[in-house]
Amino acid sequence: MTTVPRLTITQDNEFWFNAVREGRLEIQRCSDCHTLRHPPGPACPVCRSFEWD
Ligand SMILES: [Zn+2]
Repeated sequence: MTTVPRLTITQDNEFWFNAVREGRLEIQRCSDCHTLRHPPGPACPVCRSFEWD
């Protein structure tokens, strides 16, 4: 029996769960201030930018 993490998958973090399923750990990085963002979210907590890579 598999334990499913009790996290809500949204449009904003779905890519991350998909990557994890494929064996990759990805972390969003803000394009503007280069802050690593985890958990994944729609905006940078530091500079509020919506740009990331
Ligand atoms: Zn930022």
